[in-house]
Amino acid sequence: MSQDPTVDDLSGLLELQQTDVRIRRIRHQLDDLPEQRELDEAEARATELTRSADAIRVDLDRVNVEQRRLEGEIDVLRQRKDAEHTRMYSGDISSPKELQSLRAEIDATERRISQHEDELLEVMERLEALESGQTTITEEFDELAGRIEQLTTARDEAAQGLLAELAELQVVREKQRSGLSDDLLARYDERIDRYNGLAVAELDDGMCTGCRIELPVFEVNELLDGPPLGTCPQCGRLLVVPA
Ligand SMILES: [Zn+2]
Repeated sequence: MSQDPTVDDLSGLLELQQTDVRIRRIRHQLDDLPEQRELDEAEARATELTRSADAIRVDLDRVNVEQRRLEGEIDVLRQRKDAEHTRMYSGDISSPKELQSLRAEIDATERRISQHEDELLEVMERLEALESGQTTITEEFDELAGRIEQLTTARDEAAQGLLAELAELQVVREKQRSGLSDDLLARYDERIDRYNGLAVAELDDGMCTGCRIELPVFEVNELLDGPPLGTCPQCGRLLVVPA
């Protein structure tokens, strides 16, 4: 059975808790720096832009293939038309019927060329739109990259002061802990997270300062008869009982 904590132990425990509260507050501030939040937003936007740029690149590849295919087909059709023309005017064909059918072939080839040229025009327009989108994204991305760099510096500067303060508090904390028994520390540590940093409360005029519940008289009397560090019957926090 461990010894009851002394008055000094109890004030040491409350001081440790104050230090831990300050440490938690600084950690929270570090996680929640406005510069960090802005940085997170900027980085999220950069990821979004990268994704859009990737999608545009895939589209561009596809449209480029389509462009080359149409250009190739138009080339072939033009060669065919030239050959048909050459035959038409070579003087080799004298039958009017044959000439008429050749004329019809040339017309059909010209129509196909014209259709392909219309398609090619549409493809070129899509290409232009994609390239313009790509330029816009690149511009925004470059601007964002500069901003991310600035924000990172600002975040680091803002964090610097807090990190220095945190380091000092860690030293104080270690010193405060070294003055307390393992038993007391164990009772404190097992509650610190459960009670969001407030593991120790005080019995103040019949009320627990942790849960702010006024305890029934018989519970107050039990606590007053018990050890100087009890447990709140309502919330379970460690309770410093006045002598
Ligand atoms: Zn309580």
